[in-house]
Order: sequence, then C-alpha cells, then structure tokens
Amino acid sequence: MSENIYVGVDLGGTAIKVGICNAEGHLLHTYEGPTGTQEGVDTVIDNIVKYVRQIVEDSPYTWDQLAGVGAGVAGFTNIREGIIILAPNIGFRDVPIRAILEERLNKPVKIDNDANVAALGEAWSGAGRGVDNCVCYTLGTGVGGGIIINGKIYQGFGGLAGELGHISVVPDLEAIQCGCGKMGCLETVSSATGIIRMANDAVARGDRTSLSMVEKIAAKEVFDAAKAGDEVAIRIVNRAAFYLGKSMAAVAAVLNPESFIVGGGVSKAGDILFDEVRRVFAKLAPEPLQGGVSIIPAELGNDAGIVGAAGLLLRS
Ligand SMILES: [Zn+2]
Repeated sequence: MSENIYVGVDLGGTAIKVGICNAEGHLLHTYEGPTGTQEGVDTVIDNIVKYVRQIVEDSPYTWDQLAGVGAGVAGFTNIREGIIILAPNIGFRDVPIRAILEERLNKPVKIDNDANVAALGEAWSGAGRGVDNCVCYTLGTGVGGGIIINGKIYQGFGGLAGELGHISVVPDLEAIQCGCGKMGCLETVSSATGIIRMANDAVARGDRTSLSMVEKIAAKEVFDAAKAGDEVAIRIVNRAAFYLGKSMAAVAAVLNPESFIVGGGVSKAGDILFDEVRRVFAKLAPEPLQGGVSIIPAELGNDAGIVGAAGLLLRS
C-alpha cells in the first residue's frame, strides 16, 4: 500500500475525534479521546498529537503514507497564519496551532473553523459529492454555514464568509435580537434554539397545542408534534423553514450554487422541513436560479467535521 492518507481532527470541547481518509475522501478509521480542556492548552495539544499518532499506528497504514493533518475547531481562526484566535470551548486564545503541530508531527497541517470544515466534508464525499459549487447550512444550537466554490472553501476577506446564520431575514416588527447583537438573523428562527423559543412563546401565550404538555421542549418534540398534525407546531416548523428558504433565495441570487446541503440536529426533521423549504425557495428565487438546484440533507452527520478536516490538505 503506497497511497497517501490524510488525518482529520475534529477538535471539540469534550472530545477530540480523529479520522483517516484516503484521497477520495473515504473515511477509513476513526479514533476518539478526551480533549482535556480543563488541564489547559498544552495538554490539549499533547492529546491531539497522541491521538494522531495512535490512529495511524492502529491502522494498516504507515506514518510515511500520512500526507498531512487538518483540524477543524469551533471558534475564530486565522487560516492563513494557522492560528486559533479564540475558541472558548477548548480555552484557546491566540494559539499558533499549525506551527506547533507541524513541528510536533513533522507533517503539513491546515486548520479552519468547524462550519467550513463540515461543508468541505459534505462537498468532498457527502451529499455534495461531484458538485463543484454548494452551500452548506448546519442547523443546531445556532446556524452555521460554509460555502464551497469550485470545490474549495470560500473564505472571504477576513475568513468570515459563510456566516449564513447571520443573514438578516426576519422583518423588523417580528425580529428579535441575535447572539451577534443584530436583529432578525436567520439563527433566531431556524436554529434549534429559535424553534424551542417559538414553541415556548406559543405555550406561554396559551395557544392550543400538545406542546403545552411537554415539560421541557426540545426541537424534536416540535417536529414530532407537527408530524402528528399539531397546528401550532406546524406553524413553527413552517416559520423556521420559510426563513431558511428565504435565505437560500438570497444566497442563490449571489452565488448560484448547485446544491444547498442542510445538516445539524434540526435537519433530522426530514420532509416536514425540507418540503416547505423547497416550496419557499421555488416561490422566492428567480426561476433561472432554480434550474437544476437541489436542497438536500447532509449525509455524513457527525463525521463531516473529520472528513472535511482531512480534506483541507487537498481542497483548500
Ligand atoms: Zn446574528
């Protein structure tokens, strides 16, 4: 075996997940261990190095076959310099991670933020396989995004492109403040947090809904209630879908991507969400921008981060 392999690192607050990919983006092996955030930056870096060495050792591949290591991190990153500027969940501030890892591993290293890396994973070997231009949404606690143009992550001027959650979509009268400080961002309505808030508001208002029987509402309960025909829940899901579709119509007018790929916990809602998003997109996007465009669920789930991180070596 002489083929090159690539290791992707998904650097999370509680666990570091690593995986080996081949040059086609197939995930061949995975390994996971604690991050060690409490023990500080040096321990976290020691752990990354340890897990990368471990996974290659445990695999049928040799260290010489390892062509490079990519890492995705939740936070602000300076991609060109390879510095993690601020990553609160692992306690990193101004850590020149690329230089440190390159020295420790003696391999090329690249880093990027988790949303871009997940988008690259989907584009490389997930729902966007074979598609050169796609836009990925991750609907979770917040709304993350990544833009792939000509097969590569589009970074923008300050490396901040793809902040899809902060596209302003909600009209002023209905807008609430987003975590970013601005009003009416997509994240306020189409994230799990937004959906839960709308459900709690409906219950507090006294709307007739089965959700009033739920002690602590999660997004899944809202989807289940909507699927069971609960009209209040359907209205909430439709609202989340409406603004998502509206944002896609705006993005389509700017980038004309071939696919919109939607992942994250909220995407698990399935057809009840996607049908409405597609309907809204068809209604709002100019017709020539709809031709051949698909709005589809992500495929890689939690592995998107590892695969995309490995892909940084080839596709960024
Ligand atoms: Zn915002």
